[in-house]
Amino acid sequence: MSTILKGIAASKGYAIAKAYRLVEPDLSFQKTSIANVEEEVARFHEAVHIAKSELENIRNRAEVDLGAEKAAIFDAHLLVLSDPELLTPIEDKMKMEQVNAEFALKETTDMFITMFEEMDNEYMRERAADIRDVTKRVLSHLLGVQIPNPSTIAEEVIIVANDLTPSDTAQLNRKFVKGFTTDIGGRTSHSAIMARSMEIPAVVGTQHITKEVANGDLLIIDGTNGDVHVNPTPELVKEYEAAQEKYARQKAEWAKLLNEKTVSADGHQVELAGNIGTPNDLEGVHANGGEAVGLYRTEFLYMDKEQFPTEMEQYEAYKAVLEGMKGKPVVVRTLDIGGDKHLPYLDLPEEMNPFLGLRAIRLCFKEKEMFRTQLRALLRASVHGNLRIMFPMIATLDEFRKAKAILLEEKEALLSEGVNVSSDIEIGIMIEIPAAAIMAGQLAKEVDFFSIGTNDLIQYTMAADRMNETISYLYQPYHPAILRLVKMVIDAAHKEGKWAGMCGEMAGEELAIPILLGLGLDEFSMSASSILPARSLIKKLNKAEMEKLAAEVIELQSMEEVAEAVKKVVAFDA
Ligand code: PEP
Ligand code: MG
Repeated sequence: MSTILKGIAASKGYAIAKAYRLVEPDLSFQKTSIANVEEEVARFHEAVHIAKSELENIRNRAEVDLGAEKAAIFDAHLLVLSDPELLTPIEDKMKMEQVNAEFALKETTDMFITMFEEMDNEYMRERAADIRDVTKRVLSHLLGVQIPNPSTIAEEVIIVANDLTPSDTAQLNRKFVKGFTTDIGGRTSHSAIMARSMEIPAVVGTQHITKEVANGDLLIIDGTNGDVHVNPTPELVKEYEAAQEKYARQKAEWAKLLNEKTVSADGHQVELAGNIGTPNDLEGVHANGGEAVGLYRTEFLYMDKEQFPTEMEQYEAYKAVLEGMKGKPVVVRTLDIGGDKHLPYLDLPEEMNPFLGLRAIRLCFKEKEMFRTQLRALLRASVHGNLRIMFPMIATLDEFRKAKAILLEEKEALLSEGVNVSSDIEIGIMIEIPAAAIMAGQLAKEVDFFSIGTNDLIQYTMAADRMNETISYLYQPYHPAILRLVKMVIDAAHKEGKWAGMCGEMAGEELAIPILLGLGLDEFSMSASSILPARSLIKKLNKAEMEKLAAEVIELQSMEEVAEAVKKVVAFDA
């Protein structure tokens, strides 16, 4: 039966494919006593046998798709499954205590895992991780449930998950993954941002998609209105195939603007930049005609690792981006860890309100060596292009002064070591805390630029967690409260002769763009896939008219009224 689930439209476009559940299975079981031990041992051997052939398949495919180094992980797992020192004690336990295979397996492997984890030896700790993975796999066969493995996907699918971490997303094969949909998250959660940078349609925050959809169900993802259709009728599939074609034609129109400047109908030029998370994302920025990088979220460099990236590793990444942009501006944001972004190797206490806690610049002040290492890498890389450095989550002028002082100390130190550093690095801040927006006049005297981070500015102004889909209605980018703060920031920058940009998702939203142009925003930085539609829109707008519109809408009462007023004067692309 065809059903429809409503979620949040996170990445535009339409996808039609079978569901692939990326959901951890329930591996819980009871301890039971066994009458026929021989049969239980045979059942255990059978599960080990199936796990082995499954791993062999995964290993072979990983070798082709990901290379020998990644495939070696699975060789280690296969070794564990052939190791009598592990298998014999499990069998002995079943025989001596007459317990079920699940219990004997878990008890024995837990003992080895604890023992290896406590050793002061990196190699043995890695073996503990292998045993944990292998145990899960064998358990899944004993219990008759399936462990998902995205690296084995070999047909077009739509991923269904509770949430997707950045590393889950990075592993998705673009050839086969046509879209994704999640239970949790909002328009500015990181899974949504990743979907836009990968240019795959996505609907997040459906609340219960993982409960409603089985592997192999046919799905339609409507990344434009946030609908997910489960097992749609053939008629609906036809309608969406037509919508896909129409969208492809629209994209072909936008592509004609690839190398054009972004100038309004009455001759006002702005800069359209791309947001990136890794040097690889530059490809999308170029393919979509980005004129700069307005936000490089450096934390992804730290999140995909088992330990801090070294100064050299960071230098290489920053250099690659600066060189890749060939002298065009690159705004690199210093580390923004905390909130929903964690480092597995940085052991921080649990917080009641992580988004209000030890996050971004606050954490950098606490972990000074981590911060200084990043700054040194950035300064070294600065000679390879047009670097701008930006500090996240600045609440007070004092915090900015402190961060800048540390940066200048590192610069002096490098210069005295004879290292070349560019003499022309702009230093700016993100405006994402209401206090900073309100005090923008003071801050503007000391910074070189502002970049408004509306994802956080909206969550903090509305007091609405950006990850919580149940209150996502409060993500209201064109609510007059937000527009007034944005206006204060732009005006404050201009009064001091500085530029103001925006790198929150709002900068790429079609209803917001006319107002932002009217408010005088200088730089719009967005997911690469939004750049060409934004350029197409701005070229049709008249700046003087948008100034009037902006002045009008900030006096309105609600987001709905603002949207209506914008729609009245602006003709949007289909
Ligand atoms: C923002 O808060 O608007 C922003 C761009 O930063 P992030 O989404 O990484 O928090
Ligand atoms: Mg932010």
